[in-house]
Amino acid sequence: PVVTRFAPSPTGALHIGGARTALFNWLFARANGGTFMLRIEDTDKARSTPENTAAILDGLSWLGLDWDGEPLSQASRAERHAEVAHQMLAAGKAYKCFSTQEEIEAFRETARAENRSTLFRSPWRDVDESDHPDAPYVIRIKAPQDGTTTIDDAVQGSVTLGNDQLDDMILLRSDGTPVYMLAVVVDDHDMGVTHVIRGDDHLTNAFRQGMIYKAMGWDVPVMAHIPLIFGPDGKKLSKRHGATGAAEYRAMGYPAAGMRNYLTRLGWSHGDDEFFTDAQAREWFNLDGIGKSPARFDTKKLENLCGQHIAIAEDAALLHEIQAYLAATGAPALTAEQADGLERAMYCLKERAKTLPELLEKAHFVLTSRPIEMDEKSASQLTDVSRGILSELTPQLQSASWNRDTLEETVKAIAANHGLGLGKLAGPLRAVLAGRSVSPSVFDMMLVLGRDETLARMQASDG
Ligand code: GLU
Repeated sequence: PVVTRFAPSPTGALHIGGARTALFNWLFARANGGTFMLRIEDTDKARSTPENTAAILDGLSWLGLDWDGEPLSQASRAERHAEVAHQMLAAGKAYKCFSTQEEIEAFRETARAENRSTLFRSPWRDVDESDHPDAPYVIRIKAPQDGTTTIDDAVQGSVTLGNDQLDDMILLRSDGTPVYMLAVVVDDHDMGVTHVIRGDDHLTNAFRQGMIYKAMGWDVPVMAHIPLIFGPDGKKLSKRHGATGAAEYRAMGYPAAGMRNYLTRLGWSHGDDEFFTDAQAREWFNLDGIGKSPARFDTKKLENLCGQHIAIAEDAALLHEIQAYLAATGAPALTAEQADGLERAMYCLKERAKTLPELLEKAHFVLTSRPIEMDEKSASQLTDVSRGILSELTPQLQSASWNRDTLEETVKAIAANHGLGLGKLAGPLRAVLAGRSVSPSVFDMMLVLGRDETLARMQASDG
C-alpha cells in the first residue's frame, strides 16, 4: 500500500510550492488507495511556531487536502532518533568522534592550503572504543569513501554522485540531539512512507539520507524530486512575482477546486488536459506525468481554470464556499435571506466569474435590498424617456406570466414600440433592479427576484 507524507517546517506560512508538494503527495496517495500523512518538522525550536503550524493545516484544509491520522511532531521523536544513532554505533556503521571545533577548523585550513577537499575526515573513524577519551563526542556515520552512489529518482531519473563528496556527517550532536537528516529518515521509515515526493532542493539530501537507510538495512522509499516553481520570468517564484502564499490566493477568492486543478497542472501533465475534475485528477495522477523542468506560474491560466470550476460547481457547494470565503476574509456573514437569494441566483452568477469576489460583485442585486442605491453610471441611465418607457412596462409585467420567454417578449415589444433595440431598455431596467452596471441579464434578475420584488424596485425608482 502507498504511504506518502507532507513534511512542512512550521517556520512560515504555506507557500504555493509547499501546497503543490502536499497536493502531489495527497493525489498520489488517493490515486492509489493509499495513506497521506502529515509530519510537522518542528525541530528548529527558535523558528517553529504553533501559529505557523495552524496556518499550514488551515491552508491544506482550504485546499481540501485531508490527511490521515494525527499530524506527527518531529521534535517529539528526538529520543527515537537518538536510539537509531546508537543502533548504528553498536553495529559499527557509525562512530564516536571527539574532534573539537578548533581541530576541525585546523583540518580545513590545512586542506585549503594544500588544495585538497575540505570535507572533514575524522581521525576517530577507526579508533578502538578502549582508546576513547572521557570527553564530549558526536556520533558520525561511516560514509563510503570511494566509488559512487546512484539514486533512481522517479522524476530526475538516475543521478550519480561521487562518494568523495560525502562526508561522515553528524547524526547525533554532542548534546545528544539528533540532526535533521537523521530525523527525516527515521520518521519516514517508522511512518512506513513508500514514496517521498518533494522539491528538488532536497535532491542532494537524498544521497546523505540514503547512507542512513543503507546502514540500517531499511528499504529506501521511491524518491520523486519535483522541480521548483518559477515565476513568469523563469526565475524561482518569490515575492517579486506577487503573491506566493496559499492564504493570499484564498483571500483573493480563488475557488479551492480551481486552485487544486491549477496546482496539479503546475509541473504535472496528462496529455493536453488542462481542465479536469478532482475525480479525474485522482484517477489520472501518477509520477510519470511530473515534468523534469520547472513550471512557470501563470495567473491567467489559474483564473481560466477557476472560472471553469465555478461554472460547474453545484450551487449549494458554491454558496458554502462563498460563506467560508467571507468568514476567512472577515467580511460580515450573509443573512439567511441573502444566502437564499444568492443560491437561487447562482445559476446565472457562476457563468463567467473567475473568482468568488467577481461572483459576489455580480450578485449585488440579490444581496442588496430596497431602496436600491444606484451608482452614478446607473443613475445616468434613468432619463425622462427611459422612465416613461419603464412605467409603460410596469402594468404589462403585472399580468405577464413569469417565465423567461414571456418576459423577453414583453420587454422586447415595448422597446420595439419605441423604435428601440432591447439594449436601450436593458440599461435602465438594470439600473432600477441592481443599481449597478455589473449584474446578470435583466431577465435572470427578474426571474430570481420574482414579480413582486421586480415591480417594487421599478416603482420605487419611478420618481
Ligand atoms: N521540511 C522540509 C521542507 O519543508 C521537507 C523535507 C522532506 O520533505 O523530506 O522543505
